[in-house]
Order: sequence, then structure tokens, then C-alpha cells
Amino acid sequence: MEKQTIHKDVVIIGSGPAGLTAAIYTGRANLAPLLVDAPADAVKQTSPGGQLMITTEVENYPGFAEGIQGPELMEEFRKQAERFGTEFLEAWITKVELHQRPFTLHTDEHIIKAQTLIIASGASAKWLGVPGEAKTPEGFGGNGVSACATCDGPLPAFRNKVLVVVGGGDTAMEEATFLTRYAAKVYVVHRRAKLRASKIMQDKALANEKIEFVWNTALEEILGTPEDGVTGVRLKNLQTGAEQVFPCAGVFIAIGHKPNTDLFRGQIEIDEVGYIKTSGHSTSTNIAGVFACGDVQDSVYRQAVTAAGTGCMSAIDAERFLDHLPVAMPTGDEVTIEGEHITPDHKTIIEPDGTMISNVAAATAALDEC
Ligand code: NDP
Repeated sequence: MEKQTIHKDVVIIGSGPAGLTAAIYTGRANLAPLLVDAPADAVKQTSPGGQLMITTEVENYPGFAEGIQGPELMEEFRKQAERFGTEFLEAWITKVELHQRPFTLHTDEHIIKAQTLIIASGASAKWLGVPGEAKTPEGFGGNGVSACATCDGPLPAFRNKVLVVVGGGDTAMEEATFLTRYAAKVYVVHRRAKLRASKIMQDKALANEKIEFVWNTALEEILGTPEDGVTGVRLKNLQTGAEQVFPCAGVFIAIGHKPNTDLFRGQIEIDEVGYIKTSGHSTSTNIAGVFACGDVQDSVYRQAVTAAGTGCMSAIDAERFLDHLPVAMPTGDEVTIEGEHITPDHKTIIEPDGTMISNVAAATAALDEC
């Protein structure tokens, strides 16, 4: 079967808060964006709507004084994007070609040509894969098990309770420290006797009287009931082999995140952990016309509202680029769709053929005309 070719000014990959916000903005800018999202797949752990689809109550998304369920929030995002003319395509992207514009994306049935590309493919929390960890009703995910303390820590179910955090990196130290605001006690279960976390984060966690460390220990199973949620965990000392049931009301898995960047590897600049590198001043990547927003480029904040914020930035960056205006790149240069480079000091324009033109004179002339 011959593949259908689709031409678009803006193509967005990903349908979490970042991708859908980019769609709302570019839709309202009359750019008729195409949003491509992965079909729901239990094995690959993908679901249109992103990580909020596996969250229950969202209490910290501004505008919802009483809170809102994660899937309900994403449904609203989606309807808003549809209202402004976003076209949705549910398909696996099998290959991308970013070496020249229009950029080319391949699915089993389509070839998509994009003048600008907004990557909002998100990141996935890593899970242990132990019994009881899966999303309810199979396990206690969303009912006592979480991978986000900022999102779920303040929920009533965890207040003044004993909680367990698994991991020994900066995320685990940050989550454990944050959870001490609410919990009676936080136990950090780590598989070794040495933390991977940076010194300052370790020192803060080690000095916190509400945090205790359980060294050389693996979490083997999460226990509970559908009515009460999590009631305990089964731990195994990796040196002695001894097992114990440890009572607790919540488990926070903090063993790292995996940004969804495999598709782009070798074609776009990513950092050592796998996050796409963007400019500090914009959402530009090292490829002019390709922008990245949300958790795929953010290893620090990772919140729905920050993802939505950077989604908005990506949309405005793409709009500017399509309007032939300069957009800031990670190098500090600004670049136009014609391939002109404006130097970081704003004094020189370098044409695609290498010709250098003063940008100062142009600015002065414009001022004179005023
Ligand atoms: P890391 O990869 O740094 O740490 C993961 C931790 O989880 C390690 O201690 C690891 O154990 C443990 N772990 C991994 N897999 C398993 C498993 N299957 N079973 C049990 N334990 C496991 O990830 P982080 O998310 O902590 O940090 C990622 C990056 O983000 C780092 O560069 C970090 O500095 C940064 N970050 C910065 C923050 C900040 O500055 N505010 C906050 C959060 C993250 P082991 O040590 O034995 O390998």
C-alpha cells in the first residue's frame, strides 16, 4: 500500500501537557498543527495524554481550586486543542529525518513533511517491576504507589503516615526530603550502602531527623488491599538474604526517569542522561526549526504546569520561525527560516553564504524612520 504524504507547517510529537499546549497555541495562530501521539500500549507503557493519565487527583494545576483527576484534565487539554483546529494522528513514528527541512517523519502508513517540529514526547518514570507496583486495579499504582512526591505527597492518604522511598540518587533525596513535610517518617530503601546523590542533597537528607536509611535492601513486593491501598512492603536484605514485611502507607519509586528520545538519537543534541538540549532563552534545539518542550528536555522541574509553559514557548518559537523572525538557538546565535544567523551580541547578521552584514545599521535606520 502506498503511504499517504502529509504536509504541515507545524507537527507536534506527544500529547501530554506540553504537546497539547503547543497545539492550542499554534492552532489559535491558524497554523493547523498536526499532533502525532502513540497509541495506548500496556507493554511499552504509552498512553495518549502522557503521565497524567496514570495519576489520580491533581491538586497543584493552577485554575482548579478543588483539584481535578489527571485523565479529566488531559481530556480538557485535548478538547481545547481540537477546538482550535488541531488534527490528531494516533500512530507510531518509526523514523525521523531531521537533516533537512521540511523534516520527514515516517509511520507505517504516512510520510509526514514538517516545516517545524515540536518534540514533546515526554519522559517515563522508571519502575521496579515488582508485584503490587502496577496501576490499579492490577496493583496499587495511584492507590499508595507513586513516582512523584510533588504530585502526590500532600494527598491525605500520606499525611502523618510512614512512607517508603526507593532509590539512592538526587531524585530519591529530593522526594524523601519533600515528603517529610507531611509524613510521620520516611524510610529510604537503597540497594547499596552508598548513595549516588550529590553531596549537598545527601547531606540534607542524612541530617533530616524524619528520614531513615535502609541500606543494602531491595523492595521485593508492595502489599495492601483495594480498600486501604498500600499497607506495607516486603524487603530483602541483599547481604544476608533476610526478608521482612515493613508496614507503611505509601511507596515512592525514585529510581530515575527515562526521556523518550530514542527516536532522535544521533540526529539531535541530547545530554548524557538522554534529555534533549534546548537553548536557555527559547525551546530551540541545535536544529533550526526543531523545538523541544516538556519533560523530554527538563530533568529538573518535571511538572505538568512547567511542561505546559514550555509547550507555549515552543509554539511561540515555531510561530516566530515561520514568520521569518529570528529565534534564539542554544549557541546564543539567533537563526531565521532563511538560514541567516544573528550573532549573540546582535551586531552582525551572517547570511547562509557566509556574507557578514552589520545588524546595527539596520536597527539605526529603522529608528531614524520612526
Ligand atoms: P540516578 O540515575 O542518579 O539515580 C537512580 C538511583 O536509583 C540510584 O541510586 C540507583 O541505584 C537506584 N536504582 C536504579 N535502578 C534501580 C532498581 N532497579 N532497583 C533499585 N534501585 C535502583 O537518577 P535520579 O533520578 O536520581 O537523577 C537523575 C539526574 O537528575 C541526575 O543527574 C541528578 O543529579 C539530576 N537531578 C537533580 C536534581 C536537583 O538538582 N534538584 C533533582 C533530581 C535529579 P545505584 O546507586 O545502586 O545505581
